[in-house]
Amino acid sequence: MKGYNKVLVKLSGEALAGEMQRGFDHTIITSVVVQLKELIEKGLQVAVVIGGGNFWRGRTSGDMDRVKADQIGMLATVMNALYVADVCRSQGIGAVVQTPFAVGNMTEIFSKDTALDHMKKGHVVFFAGGTGHPFFSTDTGAALRGCEIEADVLLFAKNIDGVYTSDPKLNHEAKRYKQLSCQELLRQNLKAIDATAAALCIEQKLPIIVFDLGATNGIVRVAMGEEIGTTIYIED
Ligand code: UDP
Repeated sequence: MKGYNKVLVKLSGEALAGEMQRGFDHTIITSVVVQLKELIEKGLQVAVVIGGGNFWRGRTSGDMDRVKADQIGMLATVMNALYVADVCRSQGIGAVVQTPFAVGNMTEIFSKDTALDHMKKGHVVFFAGGTGHPFFSTDTGAALRGCEIEADVLLFAKNIDGVYTSDPKLNHEAKRYKQLSCQELLRQNLKAIDATAAALCIEQKLPIIVFDLGATNGIVRVAMGEEIGTTIYIED
């Protein structure tokens, strides 16, 4: 079983909200943080990107200006990162939030060098605010930051246990892939990951694993190389 040394964990905002679908489910978030702590204690370097769907989504915000709606969405991801980083500190792990734009003294501005310095010291670095640009998603933000920090893998923790042949909520015959190439995911137009993120991962040869955030100790197991969920590899 091969484990990883440097991982970027992507958590969807909805997954953090649990059954409430809005805001924070503290039990879920504490479980995530305990797992991040275990990774740090095992000597892994850990970065985290959190979505914003538990507060706001630009594309479903009605007929308001999309750019403004996306700005609100990016700020939602900052709120999520500030919250989870604080839970990290309360559990005894160092945590830093970096954003692509200034948020006063609440966050640091993203820098590859300082991010890597923090990670080498055993701090979790949260990349909040997505890419800093509208019309993108935190999937793409995660892929971008993952490439920049030269992560070994992106670990996408979701409310679903992997990538399916079609939406399992709509099609009971849908089957989960254990492995799937990122190129095939794009060819089949599977919606598990944003297409822009997938394209970047292909170009930079960055694999992704999609797994269920609800799986017991799932983040640690996936990071240690256990094959749960769907591994999205890059074809040569
Ligand atoms: N967002 C953005 N640019 C980015 C990342 C996120 O504009 O680079 C905004 C967008 O409005 C998005 C929201 O932030 O809907 C929350 O991000 P997330 O990726 O969670 O969106 P979702 O996939 O849930 O729509």
